[in-house]
Amino acid sequence: MSANVTTSGSAASGGPVHPALIEDLVAANRILAGHGVLDAYGHVSMRHPAHPGRYLMSRSLAPELVTGDDIMEYDLDSNPVESRERVMFLERFIHGEVYKARPEVNAIVHSHSPSVVPFGVSSVPLRPLYHMGAFLHPGVPVFEIRQVAGMTDLLVRSPELGAALARSLGDRPVALMRGHGNVVVAATVPLAVFRAIYTETNARLQMQAINLGGSVTYLEPEEGRKAEATNAGTIARPWELWKKRVLHP
Ligand SMILES: [Zn+2]
Repeated sequence: MSANVTTSGSAASGGPVHPALIEDLVAANRILAGHGVLDAYGHVSMRHPAHPGRYLMSRSLAPELVTGDDIMEYDLDSNPVESRERVMFLERFIHGEVYKARPEVNAIVHSHSPSVVPFGVSSVPLRPLYHMGAFLHPGVPVFEIRQVAGMTDLLVRSPELGAALARSLGDRPVALMRGHGNVVVAATVPLAVFRAIYTETNARLQMQAINLGGSVTYLEPEEGRKAEATNAGTIARPWELWKKRVLHP
């Protein structure tokens, strides 16, 4: 969403990050924009590879425009290591608080991807409809911001709200945010991008299946586990394609 400025920045850096990893994070921004998961809003982050108490994310900027120079480093309270008076995402606390709660998570996408939004406001749960959405098999919780903060502008603009969202997410890969968007997490940047794209696609297909009017058959949990394991072994294929399209079009 919009953003605020701070001139503070006292956290120590986790150290230099290999340019190839920064390139992956830049590519992730552009890939997700290209797939309509991110538009001018939303963000993607990665945990610092050498310091689990730090993460990396763009300054406040439309994801399609992000370059390596725009990547900032934060501590897990979402304070910048070096602000240089750059404008920061208001909702960066989503990232810091989920990294605190989930040590195995190294990449996070927050988006308002449009096909997913209806499932955050409807009593119909988002469920895995086909093998590419298999990672949804543990269930998709909905974060209700009113339960923790009453009437708000719906933005996760504080550490407390970020922590409450992380509690809703629990140990699952995706949580919806009622009237707002969703958060997707994974162990790697390519897997987080994959999940964010196929969360959007699964949601669109689920609405189409429901609109057909008959009963809908979803993946069984065991099918979900098996298909997820298969997909995990093939991530390099779409990642290579998606990255080439955005970095060397
Ligand atoms: Zn948002």
